Amino acid sequence: MKILVAVKRVIDYNVQIRVKEDGSGIVTDNVKMSTNPPDDNAIEEAVKIKEAGKATEVVAVSVGEEKAQETVRKALAVGADRGILVKVDGATEPLAVSKILQKIVEKEKPDLVFMGKQAIDDDCNQTGQMLAALLNWPQATFASKIEVKEKSLEVIREIDEGLETIEVNVPAIVTCDLRLNEPRYASLPNIMKAKKKPIEQINASDLGIDTKPRIDQIKVEEPPKRKAGIKVASVEELVQKLKNEAKVI
Ligand code: AMP
Repeated sequence: MKILVAVKRVIDYNVQIRVKEDGSGIVTDNVKMSTNPPDDNAIEEAVKIKEAGKATEVVAVSVGEEKAQETVRKALAVGADRGILVKVDGATEPLAVSKILQKIVEKEKPDLVFMGKQAIDDDCNQTGQMLAALLNWPQATFASKIEVKEKSLEVIREIDEGLETIEVNVPAIVTCDLRLNEPRYASLPNIMKAKKKPIEQINASDLGIDTKPRIDQIKVEEPPKRKAGIKVASVEELVQKLKNEAKVI
């Protein structure tokens, strides 16, 4: 069984996001970038399945600028066998990425595609679902437990009401939740070994995919600053304030 894992390069989740002065976007210069957090869970799960002898190859793929190679390299350092970088200049949107991944799936013929449930930069939660639709494959989204069976997967997924267990036939798309596992750290020897693992580079235009953005970003602004709260001395005072000042009761 071969597993393809999609990894996106995003601003590190610890970074305090700053809006550009002209409101045209957010500051990305000299900002720490990392793998989208749930994509680390997706790689970890694929590597664990391979270590359990249930998969033969794990291939990491990223769509983005040249620097996204670092993200692929990190996936190689934690156990992926080889990488693919599909080069696109500028921002990527879910529809273009899913069309690119469709082409990669047609070329690589994996049995499973693991992805993150959501990218923390655009918060779209769309790419996995779009890819499943384009390929006409079953999908298991928000996976918090995966069990590999003969020709299917049993997946526990997080839903509003609790946990849902479903079975999907392979080939399938799985989008991974942060609770799926604890991603490992890359050890120094494995980081060194990863430098020798191959990364194939492909231009998105050679795949015949139009990556032109479909969304016009009009303006980005900071959320309004919250006013400081106050302490009230009694329940009576609270009720009076809710009634006369906040006017919510
Ligand atoms: P989104 O639909 O943007 O929230 O992204 C969901 C998931 O799709 C991510 O967690 C990644 O696994 C995958 N994905 C989205 N964009 C990219 C990209 N540019 N390169 C690789 N994977 C991506």
